[in-house]
Amino acid sequence: MVYVGLGSNLDAPHAQVAEGINELAGLPDTEVEACSSLYESEPMGPQDQPDYVNAVVRLRTGLAPEALLDGLQAIEHRHGRQRTRHWGARTLDLDILLYGEQQIAGPRLQIPHPGIAVRNFVLYPLAELDSQLEIPGRGSVTELLSACPKGRLVRLDAAAQPVV
Ligand code: ATP
Ligand code: CA
Ligand code: CA
Repeated sequence: MVYVGLGSNLDAPHAQVAEGINELAGLPDTEVEACSSLYESEPMGPQDQPDYVNAVVRLRTGLAPEALLDGLQAIEHRHGRQRTRHWGARTLDLDILLYGEQQIAGPRLQIPHPGIAVRNFVLYPLAELDSQLEIPGRGSVTELLSACPKGRLVRLDAAAQPVV
């Protein structure tokens, strides 16, 4: 099972994420099996940027990890993604969070994603999709989540309103 995290804080972030999910479904030999709710989260790093909209999807894909990353970067590029400063504002960010049981530590690709264990905007949607999920080398998603401050993370419902 492959999990991809989406994030956006520029140019209509909800639409960027929704279109991003559709485009993931359009990658070769790839299906979107499940989508989390949308979440709103505070920025990492520079604080002089808008809050983020985040989601996580579970994919079934025949693409190898590097080919999947190529596909994700092509989608980011189509969304006008520009890399200006580290953790700066972006139209669309697509990260491979998990690729089955694989652990990869290459120069271009690290799996599980290095931030997975400490990012509330990743752990909450992952737990929503599979509360039993084990992160290779890190532990269970629920244990990681219970050790991770929730901060200002808010889950949004389908109409993009905060869930009470
Ligand atoms: P972070 O990786 O901390 O979430 P970011 O998403 O802002 O930060 P980017 O500028 O989008 O970082 O990506 C920098 C590089 O990270 C990419 O060019 C890619 O080669 C590399 N990378 C390594 N592992 C992964 C992964 N699992 N998913 C996506 N990109 C990855
Ligand atoms: Ca990222
Ligand atoms: Ca990224």
